[in-house]
Amino acid sequence: MPMPETFRQRLFPLLPSIAAHYGTPFHIYDEQGIRDTGRRLKEAFAGVARFREYYAVKALPNPRVLAVMAEMGFGFDCSSIAELRLSRRVGARGEDLMFTSNNTSAEDFDEAAAEGGSILNLDDISLLPKVPEMPELICFRYNPGERRSGNEIIGNPVESKYGVSHEQLLPAFRQAREMGASRFGLHTMLASNELNYRYMVQTAAMLLELVEEISAELGITFEFVNIGGGLGIPYRPDAANLDLVSMGREIADLFQAFATRHGYQPALYMESGRFMTGPHGVLVTTAINRKEIYRTYVGVDASMSSLMRPGMYGAYHHIDVVGKEGGATEVVDVVGSLCENNDKFAIQRPLPKIVDGDLLVIHDTGAHGIAMGFNYNGNLRPKELLLRSDGTTELIRRAETVDDYFATLSFGPDVFRP
Ligand SMILES: *Cc1c(COP(=O)(O)O)cnc(C)c1O
Repeated sequence: MPMPETFRQRLFPLLPSIAAHYGTPFHIYDEQGIRDTGRRLKEAFAGVARFREYYAVKALPNPRVLAVMAEMGFGFDCSSIAELRLSRRVGARGEDLMFTSNNTSAEDFDEAAAEGGSILNLDDISLLPKVPEMPELICFRYNPGERRSGNEIIGNPVESKYGVSHEQLLPAFRQAREMGASRFGLHTMLASNELNYRYMVQTAAMLLELVEEISAELGITFEFVNIGGGLGIPYRPDAANLDLVSMGREIADLFQAFATRHGYQPALYMESGRFMTGPHGVLVTTAINRKEIYRTYVGVDASMSSLMRPGMYGAYHHIDVVGKEGGATEVVDVVGSLCENNDKFAIQRPLPKIVDGDLLVIHDTGAHGIAMGFNYNGNLRPKELLLRSDGTTELIRRAETVDDYFATLSFGPDVFRP
């Protein structure tokens, strides 16, 4: 099921007054739901000697939400300078930070090493001589190529720009060691929105096998393996939840078998984004127009600049009309105001009959929602609210204004004659 029932029960009775107080549109996130999912994740991996989630900051880069992650003991997976700075703002330092960049620039390396550094997760062997100062702890991102079939969304690893190839992996660690590294980690990220937990178990098995091979060859041990993110959530009402408990148990079994063979086990790191926050956010928007031509269009006050997934991937996001659950339905397209015909939150969807002023709740926008927002067509990104565990709401990002839109145009003359 989309949007957890507990979130619905907490939010829906309050929604009319929240909408009246703040004005729509807004994304609102459920602090308690995020904390509950974080606890379930930790419990699922209790059988592994050392487990840590590094929240993928790109999924929901709001410091208030990141602070909740930090309180749960999570680290942060970052891929840009801004994401590193956001994470440091909530107190993350050193090995709380995993820097998983690709096509890494000199500026990226400098930021990764700043303020006590971060774990450097290198995307390519050619980057080794470009690391300004080889850190003690180094990780490589592995791309298995034709050894694994990627999942549906992320695609075939052979066509993926990420990671070190199978043949390069051993030379990469050897060279890193020659350059002074003495602690090692191994990472991969092969799935996206994968609901079959076995895929992640296979990934853990693959990484542990590689660790055995590389360790035997180079005489090194590994501090951690990182199985990446990509745990799926059920966007569609008929989709089942990922079986987190079985996933944790089967992965823990693999780690224990490894420990039996080698007398130690590496830590298990994961960098889920969507799974941690996706179901715990919704986009709330008001119906403002209704248009009957060849189809019926319900126009709302949000656009794809607040949620790009339907337009970009044809992704399904479930929609509720507040106060009209279970009534007679009609088939409509729910649209924003962009001059792009893919600016639609739903296409030919049966929904209760909507009139101007109705509140629509678009589910599962807590990851890759506002984070993918943009300004095309002069559309402004909406505000973000946090429904706190104590039942109060907090504005955690204001809506963009036209002044924000003009901010990069407001500067003195800057003319150059080459
Ligand atoms: C996007 C990304 C994640 C998070 O993916 P989810 O599907 O949100 O779990 C984790 N790691 C890396 C390297 C990523 O690029």
